[in-house]
Amino acid sequence: MALFKLGHIISYVRADLHTHSWYSPDGWMSPEHLLRVAKKQRLGAIAVTDHNRLTVVQSDDILVIPGEEIRTTHGELIGLGITEEIPAGLSPEETTDRILEQGGIVVIPHPFDEFRRKSALLLNYDYGPRKRTAVEVLNARYLSWKPYERALAYAIAHNLPTLGSSDAHTPWEIGRAYTFMHYCDDVDCVLGRILKKEVVPKGRLSPPWVHGFSPLGRVAHSLRLMPL
Ligand SMILES: [Zn+2]
Ligand SMILES: [Zn+2]
Repeated sequence: MALFKLGHIISYVRADLHTHSWYSPDGWMSPEHLLRVAKKQRLGAIAVTDHNRLTVVQSDDILVIPGEEIRTTHGELIGLGITEEIPAGLSPEETTDRILEQGGIVVIPHPFDEFRRKSALLLNYDYGPRKRTAVEVLNARYLSWKPYERALAYAIAHNLPTLGSSDAHTPWEIGRAYTFMHYCDDVDCVLGRILKKEVVPKGRLSPPWVHGFSPLGRVAHSLRLMPL
């Protein structure tokens, strides 16, 4: 019985593949703090996707997927499984090429979110390349489920994998939304499951007050209360 239970626990992974440490200009957590909370939330994998920066994080307790959320000329893209930092300000196509050259996969974060006119890639942009691309259909920072449905419809129309993520900037957000998959213990396995569409977005939305911490975070950073 005990063995059955153990097998049950480790037979799947909850992965939060979009989070921010204080190496983002609006983030509140050290990478170590972030990993501690992720472990407490019983996540099996995490990606620290700081804004325009590849933060190298290592852990013996939780599988870490290297990642970066990159500002392009037309909204943001996330590169997962990359090894070198990609600069902000390139076109979405050039950014995609850089991610793919490194063997990474592209995630379109929070598409169609009307409250993110600048950072939502697909509000007003016809994004061509869709090789090794997944759609973050569920972002826990959505203020309603409307963008979830639009993103889901887009992913279905283009036959793309669908992810869920918290986009956490504070400890209270980690793991609110996540991507569910069969057990994996290395980066290639996670990326492979995503590309094979063996992933399901799950979770709930964070309370709207978490948004207040982003401008406050920028103030805290400008007062040099954080390392960046
Ligand atoms: Zn941010
Ligand atoms: Zn983000």
